[in-house]
Amino acid sequence: MKSNFLKIILTFSLLFASSLFAKEKVYKLKLATTWGPTAIPLIDAPKNMAAMVKKMSNGRLLIKVDASNKHKAPLGILDMVKGGQYDMGHSTSYFWKGKDIDTLPFTTMPFGMTALEQYAWFYNAGGMKLMQKAYAKHKVLSFPGGNTGVQMGGWFQKEIKTLNDLKGLKMRIPGFAGEIMAELGVLVTNLAPGELYTALERGTIDALEWVGPSMDIKMGFHKIASYYYTGWHEPGAETQYLVNKKSFNKLPKDLQEILIVAMRASAYDMFIQNYHLSGLALGKMLKEYPNIKIKAFPKEVMDGMKKANTLLREVVSKKSALLKEVLDHQESYLKQVRPWSEMSDYLYLRDNLTK
Ligand code: CA
Repeated sequence: MKSNFLKIILTFSLLFASSLFAKEKVYKLKLATTWGPTAIPLIDAPKNMAAMVKKMSNGRLLIKVDASNKHKAPLGILDMVKGGQYDMGHSTSYFWKGKDIDTLPFTTMPFGMTALEQYAWFYNAGGMKLMQKAYAKHKVLSFPGGNTGVQMGGWFQKEIKTLNDLKGLKMRIPGFAGEIMAELGVLVTNLAPGELYTALERGTIDALEWVGPSMDIKMGFHKIASYYYTGWHEPGAETQYLVNKKSFNKLPKDLQEILIVAMRASAYDMFIQNYHLSGLALGKMLKEYPNIKIKAFPKEVMDGMKKANTLLREVVSKKSALLKEVLDHQESYLKQVRPWSEMSDYLYLRDNLTK
């Protein structure tokens, strides 16, 4: 009797000791990005997120980030996360609008929300719920991954004075905005990023859009183009994290929460990092190339773009009930929030111009 009692005590002591010294399980995830290893600040978002996750989890969750040179499929992120080759992805939703049109509006829409309005929509007004709904059929979760802010309308060799100046113009402008430009007579081309500088320099194309000062400066377009037009087509381009649902569900609850918090914090970090870099880059460009003319498209051209936008939205809305639901939701939210944007940031800036 006594020896049995001792045995039990001994067994419990051993169990307790082993639980104290047992190594905690380490979870490992793999993430594929669309971006190359030097695409700052885009590539910084997932890298920063992985570093935060490692620290916050005390090394229990490790995320390996593969740039596009590693997996060679920069536009195949959704497929790879869906298929389980990768647990996570960092990219932009509108890249696969050809495969699933429902994913189109979660990056940005022409004449749509600014970054702040869109974050308000995602986190406070039901945008996130709609995004999960759109990705549910792929068994993938999606979260905002960092924003470029207002993108510039692009670099042009000639001034655009009327709608007629767009006819026959050869321009690189992808996505829904490209469809709008095509509607207005632009010959839209899509070239690989590495070919853009030479194409613009040699006149193979007359214009192109990329992002904004922070990323355009590295491409060198300011050295060869005369006009830099202000934005209309990507007023707040959000990148997206994708997470394979199975991989996510395998994580303990605390690691799931750490992952969600780190994705959100890294998205904000990328947004402000890009804002900072754009300020620096614009100053540098204008100092070194003071003859660059910064222009807004004239009213006639903007009105034409808006008209084409309305028309094409109607056409695309007919393709999917869910897409229509999201576009309508965004539009009604914009109506609700825009008066405040105009009364706050817009009037403040207008009345306090630096020159
Ligand atoms: Ca762009």
